[in-house]
Amino acid sequence: RVTALARPGEPRDARRVFLVLLRDLTEARRVERMRADFVANASHELRTPLASLSGFIETLQGPARNDPAARERFLEVMAEQARRMSRLIDDLMSLSRIEVKAHVAPETIVDLAPIVEHVVDAMLPLANDSGVELVVAIGDRPLPVRGDRDELAQVFQNLVHNAIKYGHEGKRVEITARAERRMPAKPARAIVTVVDFGQGIAPEHLPRLTERFYRVDTATSRAKGGTGLGLAIVKHIIARHRGQLTIESEPGKGAAFSVAIDLEDVPSQPS
Ligand code: ADP
Repeated sequence: RVTALARPGEPRDARRVFLVLLRDLTEARRVERMRADFVANASHELRTPLASLSGFIETLQGPARNDPAARERFLEVMAEQARRMSRLIDDLMSLSRIEVKAHVAPETIVDLAPIVEHVVDAMLPLANDSGVELVVAIGDRPLPVRGDRDELAQVFQNLVHNAIKYGHEGKRVEITARAERRMPAKPARAIVTVVDFGQGIAPEHLPRLTERFYRVDTATSRAKGGTGLGLAIVKHIIARHRGQLTIESEPGKGAAFSVAIDLEDVPSQPS
């Protein structure tokens, strides 16, 4: 582009190239600003539990030194703060791993149905503890897509976990996995939907929900052990799978998160 700028006798092209350069610079600045914001947010999120840990250590070294009951209580809080830092670092690592692979579409063909089933099984204890019934509808037919098994499991785990965390008042979470045939000439898709009947999400929050560290209510998210990165991870994984995430909600009635990924044609096995 810079070579084209220097070429004589092409004023219109030069102008266009200049405009393209300007647009690229603006985009580069936007990306740079986003990156700086992200680092600032991540540092802040890590510093909060760290400050709390430092505070408790000082108290344990000083005033609470000879108070076994206080020691016990403080150590419990400290362990929770350490777990929180650990969750945050895990999520940051996941995001960074996915970003590195962002432009490489997965090649392996995997069946979505058992992946969703495994996630539901793994979430049963949490659902039970939260008084939530998981209602599952997964068809018998396989749902082959080009994908990464672990990443897809993480998507469904984050969605079901959120539905239990934020929608437990609804007492029920519905998980469905099915094929959607589309006419004409569009590839069929696998659709996985997670629906809860909890507080839902006000419309003004919907467009920003998948941004890193965006939370509707920071205190509630923190109290429930959230890092604010779950849906950002979901968005990045689905983008890498050339899929689509749809979020719908009627405040006070619940929320529905749907993932759509193109189905692959798998030749039927000779019997
Ligand atoms: P967090 O770690 O805070 O749960 P997420 O990225 O997973 O972060 O979600 C971002 C925010 O979206 C949450 O803090 C919560 O406010 C909102 N949210 C996500 N799922 C739901 C849901 N099923 N019902 C209501 N709010 C939700």
